[in-house]
Amino acid sequence: MVYLDHNASVPMTAAVIDAMTAAAWQGGNPSSVHDYGRRVRARIETARKEVAAMVGAAASQVVFTSGATEANAMALRACGRGHVLVSATEHVSVLDAHSGSIRIPVEADGVVLPSAVRAALTAEDVDAGDAVVSVMLANNETGVIQPVAEIAAVVRELGALMHCDAVQAPGRVPVDMAALGVDMMTVSAHKIGGPAGIGALILRDASLLRPDTKGGGQEKGLRGGTENVTGIAGFGAAAKSTRDVDGVDAIARRRDRIEARVKQEVPDAVVFGANVARLANTSCIAIPGIGAETQVMALDLAGYAVSAGSACSSGKVKTSHVLLAMGVDDDLARCAIRISLGPDTGDDDVDGFVAAWTDLIHRLRRSAA
Ligand code: PMP
Repeated sequence: MVYLDHNASVPMTAAVIDAMTAAAWQGGNPSSVHDYGRRVRARIETARKEVAAMVGAAASQVVFTSGATEANAMALRACGRGHVLVSATEHVSVLDAHSGSIRIPVEADGVVLPSAVRAALTAEDVDAGDAVVSVMLANNETGVIQPVAEIAAVVRELGALMHCDAVQAPGRVPVDMAALGVDMMTVSAHKIGGPAGIGALILRDASLLRPDTKGGGQEKGLRGGTENVTGIAGFGAAAKSTRDVDGVDAIARRRDRIEARVKQEVPDAVVFGANVARLANTSCIAIPGIGAETQVMALDLAGYAVSAGSACSSGKVKTSHVLLAMGVDDDLARCAIRISLGPDTGDDDVDGFVAAWTDLIHRLRRSAA
């Protein structure tokens, strides 16, 4: 099986599994004051430094959570702002974090314009001084990269808070929280080769949040509960590996090769976000007339793991809200699949995938004719 679904989850590396295994053998509670506890605590603090370094932040800014979903919800709820504005192509964990959130529209290429954010924050019924804005760094379905620094400048100027879901970015594009000028940033371990079930919210200042549960006061009182030590150890090891972005150009060449060959064989194929800045590893392509589910299942049988345009949470394939927000016709959006490459995806994998896919498309179209 060739795995081309790295935006859903990146396989763990040996270094990550080793770090988790060592933490698991050690056991213990990091809040214990004895030597045993102190050694567990040290493991957590080493990982915290690695996660902070991954986004150019200080260790003291990192709050570990159970993943990006919790971090996104925490950011948008516990900041206590009355108006929550989110871009229309955010991950569902941002869209649904706050029941009354306002959607900021995106352009046809998937980009959120700073002017659209300004318009949303200065709308008559919005108090920018009591608002929080959430715009992701890179979209999980299309790979489209948002002008987060420019947007954050507008948000700051108008007195609102800025949150950024940067889950898909580390190891793929440089991430520097201070340079981006955001107040809160979400990251997740399993998107960078760490384990699922651990993530972090990184805060410019811990006083930005007022959580409604404190528990045992862990994570600066912002996220109580005994820390997930093995998960955190794996997250730290994975974060360390994101410093090595040497392979990104080779990944981009392979992604471009897939797109060029598919366009050559299937001229009416549509590549979304092709003309704007995108993650090097991600391609979202629609084949008109062939449903995403049919493509994903047939490719699975052929030995290739890809996903439907929308990351499906419970195995169900829904029409992508991301593509619909970009103004893509519903029928076309239903025919989009996402291919996301990883550092170990080779030329042979790419060539085999394109051959299997185009063969399948020709076959299905012939039988429908
Ligand atoms: N945000 C984005 C952009 C994502 O791609 C995902 C995972 N699909 C999440 C948030 C949720 O991450 P987690 O699984 O860590 O809750």
